[in-house]
Amino acid sequence: MKQFSPHPVSDDRTGAGNTAAVLEVSDLTVEFPTRNGTLTAIDGVSMRIEPGEILGVVGESGAGKSITGLAVLGLLEAPGRIAGGQIHVGGRRIDTLSEEELTKIRGCEMGAIFQDPLTALNPLFSIGAQLIETIRLHTDLSKDGARERALKLLREVGIPAPEERLRQYPHQFSGGMRQRVVIALALAAEPDLIIADEPTTALDVSIQAQITTLLRRLCKEYNTGIMLVTHDMGVIAETADRVAVMYSGRVVETGRVDDVIHNAQHPYTKGLMAAIPSLHERVGTLTQIDGAMPRLNARPEGCAFNPRCHSAGPRCNREVPRIVAAGRSRAACFLHAGGTS
Ligand code: ADP
Repeated sequence: MKQFSPHPVSDDRTGAGNTAAVLEVSDLTVEFPTRNGTLTAIDGVSMRIEPGEILGVVGESGAGKSITGLAVLGLLEAPGRIAGGQIHVGGRRIDTLSEEELTKIRGCEMGAIFQDPLTALNPLFSIGAQLIETIRLHTDLSKDGARERALKLLREVGIPAPEERLRQYPHQFSGGMRQRVVIALALAAEPDLIIADEPTTALDVSIQAQITTLLRRLCKEYNTGIMLVTHDMGVIAETADRVAVMYSGRVVETGRVDDVIHNAQHPYTKGLMAAIPSLHERVGTLTQIDGAMPRLNARPEGCAFNPRCHSAGPRCNREVPRIVAAGRSRAACFLHAGGTS
């Protein structure tokens, strides 16, 4: 059932199989078995992306952002495994599919953009050959039709002189232009969902804004849902519609970007906002967070943020807070669920 709230922050109120959502992750758990025991990298994560919506997934390094994206794409490397929960793409459950079925879905219904565009491009083939092959794999277009489509895609992602560029090889493109080609490749099959993992991190600051603007425009034009994974709240502020803040393998806050930035509800999110110079002036001075995120094998009982939290009470050391309504957002904090004592 579709949520008709003016603030669709339905992330943990999942209705698995909902066809309106391009992505619905419900209570996802990812484990890494090791010689010294099982590490739970993702611990009950739920999130949802509507068509044409950009969900920013943000948090410190090691929070579980990339593993969440890889789990959705079915690209977790062994021994990493999905140990619980469900993933639906376009209403279809995909976490139980075979590798072969997943490969098909990955091409057609899900696209991926990673930090380093060179990982997605083959240095031995021209850009045109790679684009045309990808388009032909996912459509029944003729070679000429696919070439026309490739040219159109290059134009759409802002690559000048596309006829000439089709004949060129990845090393003949700048970093920013290469990432535009990867975006064209990701769009080639017109997927419902794109996972973009730190797509601008390797680029010059001036180019970053161009790429995020492009992603935003294409997301709206194609009605594609985008999971934008980044450690950079500034990128989220410029690009995303909603945000999920992750900490130690869990979602601690989720809501509309403006609400989360200007009225953070979780003590961790408040600290995260304070660490962003460009947002400082807008949100005022906030408390910095001391300490570091716990290692997976040393996650404290209860709320994983409790050792760093100035508001923590005895309950925070005992119980893991569920995510609940908090202001106009949702937060996993007892300050919003009956108190910390
Ligand atoms: P982020 O993208 O937020 O920086 P990741 O999703 O890459 O974080 O990692 C989440 C957690 O999973 C981290 O604590 C990381 O150390 C752990 N992790 C990632 N890959 C492996 C692996 N192959 N084996 C064990 N732990 C892993």
